[in-house]
Amino acid sequence: MASPLTQPPVLDPGTLRIVPLGGLGEIGRNMSVFEMEGKLLIVDCGVLFPEEHQPGVDLILPDFGPIRDRLDDVLAIVLTHGHEDHIGAVPYLLKMRDDIPIVGSTLTIALIEAKLTEHKITPYTLTVEEGGREKFGPFDVEFLAVNHSIPDALALFIRTEAGTVLHTGDFKMDQLPLDGRLTDLRGFARVGAEGVDVFMTDSTNADVPGFTPHERDIGPVLDQVVHRATRRVIVASFASHVHRVQQVIDAAVANHRRVALVGRSMVRNMGIAKELGYLRVPEGVFIDAKKAVDLPDDQVVYMTTGSQGEPMAGLSRMANREHPTIEIGEGDTVILASSHPRERKRGVPGNQRVD
Ligand SMILES: [Zn+2]
Repeated sequence: MASPLTQPPVLDPGTLRIVPLGGLGEIGRNMSVFEMEGKLLIVDCGVLFPEEHQPGVDLILPDFGPIRDRLDDVLAIVLTHGHEDHIGAVPYLLKMRDDIPIVGSTLTIALIEAKLTEHKITPYTLTVEEGGREKFGPFDVEFLAVNHSIPDALALFIRTEAGTVLHTGDFKMDQLPLDGRLTDLRGFARVGAEGVDVFMTDSTNADVPGFTPHERDIGPVLDQVVHRATRRVIVASFASHVHRVQQVIDAAVANHRRVALVGRSMVRNMGIAKELGYLRVPEGVFIDAKKAVDLPDDQVVYMTTGSQGEPMAGLSRMANREHPTIEIGEGDTVILASSHPRERKRGVPGNQRVD
């Protein structure tokens, strides 16, 4: 047994301390605390999803213990992107102090606001974008674009009197992203030239050789499968993977099918993405799942969650005949549109273990 840790000493003036409260040595519940001059800046506040050997556990939160008595010192929570393993624990932190300002990109803020509404919390928010720069007490934060499996992700370059930190958040280096928004390597080079004292980088799959597949390579495959299907098509993916859902919608439209979103998180997130212009859906393509059951089988695509077999997600419930609206039947085509090995990542909803 490790001996219990004592409280760290009070920081000397002009000194920066970085304390990860989750996300290090594990994939999920990302949360880092930056401390300087008695003030705290939090970067990300996510959840970890339980594994098979943790029955009855819904969510695993970061360890709020070290900051529980210091919440009044928190200047802001900066969110790098809208994945659950980066935003999912925000409601639980805000239950302890609900006026901590939340900072993030347009889509990230919209997603966290929707989540907080379900928890009956109206947050103070600040929307930022790549190229922007904001000061939070002793922390001067610049935002850089990064490409990821959710749109509008940001890396942070944090300048302090003690030194600088480049915090990448999660990122991919897809050179042909669907939305044309590349990881800002030029910006990384620029801050590199200025001087990076600490580099905190996403390392998921960093040990897998080769290149990240292009998101847009998946479109033609989806199109072929939908084209060949003679009955209903049920696609499972992540409820936050806007670009993947976009390609499913495009394949449906090309094959004269309508799209029914199934599942609360899928409906909520894609509604937000559509409203903000991240998801392009031609008029009349979306149909309510309850109405879609009346359509001929070859005129509908159901878009749901559960591509990794999560028991409570849409696909499992449909397959087990537990879904109130949709039951998978003979001749239906089921596409698991999110299980490329290099995308597997524990902590992103439903991803399986890779270790
Ligand atoms: Zn992520």
